[in-house]
Amino acid sequence: MPHTRLLPVNAAAPEPDTVRLAADVLLGGGLVAFPTETVYGLGAVARDQAAVAKVFAAKGRPGNNPLIVHVTGVGEAKTLTAAWPDAAERLAAAFWPGPLTLVLPKSPDVPDVVTAGGPTVALRQPAHPVAAAVIAAAGPVAAPSANRSGELSPTTADHVFRGLSGAVDLILDGGPCPGGLESTVVDLTGPVARLLRPGLVTAEQLKTVLGELEMSAPVNPDAPLPSPGLLTRHYAPRTALECAATAEEAEFLANLYETAGLKVARYAPPADPTAAAAALYADLHALDAGGFDRLIVALPPDTDAWRAVRDRLTRAAAEG
Ligand code: AMP
Ligand code: MG
Repeated sequence: MPHTRLLPVNAAAPEPDTVRLAADVLLGGGLVAFPTETVYGLGAVARDQAAVAKVFAAKGRPGNNPLIVHVTGVGEAKTLTAAWPDAAERLAAAFWPGPLTLVLPKSPDVPDVVTAGGPTVALRQPAHPVAAAVIAAAGPVAAPSANRSGELSPTTADHVFRGLSGAVDLILDGGPCPGGLESTVVDLTGPVARLLRPGLVTAEQLKTVLGELEMSAPVNPDAPLPSPGLLTRHYAPRTALECAATAEEAEFLANLYETAGLKVARYAPPADPTAAAAALYADLHALDAGGFDRLIVALPPDTDAWRAVRDRLTRAAAEG
């Protein structure tokens, strides 16, 4: 087991020595956790099969759940794909660097372990200066969220340390992630672009660029998975979490459980979708440590702006 080093890094202007150290660890086959504008990522050099295998082991991630490869831009993305359709060109021009992941046919260069044996690869150019600098220094980096599989995503270095200490070589602490939710994932391998995972780039924003966008079915615990990694229960606290459609219903539920003798926490996300996304995981991490029997969450409105936050909350509430 590696000894985990925790190193501060300037989020706006990462120190060159720190970036060099992170790149050396990665190029030596090690794992580095670093901040991105979405959540903290657990990185390995994408072309290093053994290192990528360590990411799956560290996270306890099922081998059928592929990783996102992080790149320096369109030029590098093209070296990892077998096709670069016009939709990819336009989406990258509009939203890269940023919290948008594109699924495309993979080039033979991408190891199967990264794509879970599948013919497609997921690619993103992050905007966060630390992530961008580390990728520029180490080459394409496969990086899922830096948490144990199925648990809450990390938005601080402390969250990463609590979940993965002993399993990662280096954690760069660049403070809280500004976005707070995982990237939007769009599949561009079919005739019409398809939203696989909602995120901070909204469906409406995608439609302004694409014209047409198919939506993945909303979370249905009984339906087959739309994408190997879109496990129904995901991003979940350890404490049982229940969603209510309105504040009134949340209060009703909370009172019911309290009458039965349970210790209940009530949670309503901040009123603004961007603020809610930034706060969500940190709030859930804190509530999870509060010794409650139940978390009761009042869901925000069913609108495009709230789609990603509602998606994560609904998944956190899903069983098994
Ligand atoms: P995370 O592990 O939190 O970074 O999430 C990565 C997400 O991207 C998961 O939902 C994966 O299943 C999804 N993903 C990665 N690669 C692919 C791919 N080739 N096709 C479809 N979904 C993918
Ligand atoms: Mg994840």
